[in-house]
Amino acid sequence: MNFQPNERGYWGEFGGRFVPETLMSPLEELTSAYFAIRDDSEFQAEFLNLLQDFSGRPTPLFYAKRLSETLGGAKIYLKREDLGHTGSHKINNAIGQVLLAKRMGKKRIIAETGAGQHGVATATVCALFGLECVVYMGTEDMRRQELNVFRMRLLGAEVRGVDSGSKTLKDAINEALRDWVTNVDTTYYLLGSALGPHPYPLMVRDFQSHIGKEARQQILEKEGRLPDLLVACVGGGSNSIGLFHPFLQDENVQMIGVEAGGKSSKLGEHAARFMEGGKVGVLQGTKSYLLQDDRGNISLTHSISAGLDYASIGPEHAYLHDLGRVEYVSANDEEALKAFQTLSQTEGIIPALESSHGIAHAIKIAPEMSPNEIMVVNLSGRGDKDVNQVQEMLA
Ligand SMILES: *Cc1c(COP(=O)(O)O)cnc(C)c1O
Repeated sequence: MNFQPNERGYWGEFGGRFVPETLMSPLEELTSAYFAIRDDSEFQAEFLNLLQDFSGRPTPLFYAKRLSETLGGAKIYLKREDLGHTGSHKINNAIGQVLLAKRMGKKRIIAETGAGQHGVATATVCALFGLECVVYMGTEDMRRQELNVFRMRLLGAEVRGVDSGSKTLKDAINEALRDWVTNVDTTYYLLGSALGPHPYPLMVRDFQSHIGKEARQQILEKEGRLPDLLVACVGGGSNSIGLFHPFLQDENVQMIGVEAGGKSSKLGEHAARFMEGGKVGVLQGTKSYLLQDDRGNISLTHSISAGLDYASIGPEHAYLHDLGRVEYVSANDEEALKAFQTLSQTEGIIPALESSHGIAHAIKIAPEMSPNEIMVVNLSGRGDKDVNQVQEMLA
């Protein structure tokens, strides 16, 4: 089984490059630059060095003993991406792409952000290298995530509010693409998830694969064997594909991606692309499953967690779904909110609301598994950013 895309960036029928003509040659330039560094040991050594010394990798693989024993089933390990610099896995991709931008001689970095996590990670790495940084963010998201807006500004980035459409992530991506078209000679577009036109889904997955490579080595050291099951939440799909990818060839390792079930299974009230309403289509440069109505209009989405609140999913996930290699389920807002509290109280770890969706599913299925079975859950980020929101919801 081959899990690499073809030279046009397709996994089966998914992926590709659906962009205006003006972006074709910059994307080709980016693809050549990426393939030049992909097997370049000097680049990879510099990347690894920053992952270690700047971000604190490898992140631990932690045995959640009290959670496992309380549930009375599978042995649950947590991959602690919450302990990485800036508090989530997003930093891995930001470091990788900024290094690539430097190689390409670009001095200006642009990015989109939803909740602000990717914007903060990008602003952080730009500060590290003294690069100009512009982050596009929907004004609705700016209102909801004031503190992250302040963080980005503190780090020296310019945050540009986007007032069109639903004033959220989708609109911010459109603005970032528009900026890129205009300033393509000087500017590098640093996309935040395993989404968008080729080569982004491949490149982001590769940069995030350190999660799975480490987890594999760590579980072999701790248990002397591979896990039975991997679980991760899926927004655009980068933390999950980062964990899953190094295990895809291992037939005995099962994988579950957890989407945001939102308030209900009604279209518009969730962000689960593999639930009803999710159909194959093209959004923001790539062909994948996306939430749309009967006329093909992109549907509104809802999730308690801003990081999972997006109408489309990375093309490699669409492929793995159709292949049946990865199972996709959803956890709803209420289950995620409960898991947020459960993990806090059993392990002393406050998870991000995104990650809480993965934890919620682990809580659901662990009791049906045997204590001889091993599950690894990707704890994609820490929950500090969500504490105010949860406080309001619980009041
Ligand atoms: C952004 C984010 C996600 C969702 O993005 P993916 O690309 O699907 O990983 C999940 N968890 C956290 C903590 C995030 O910040």
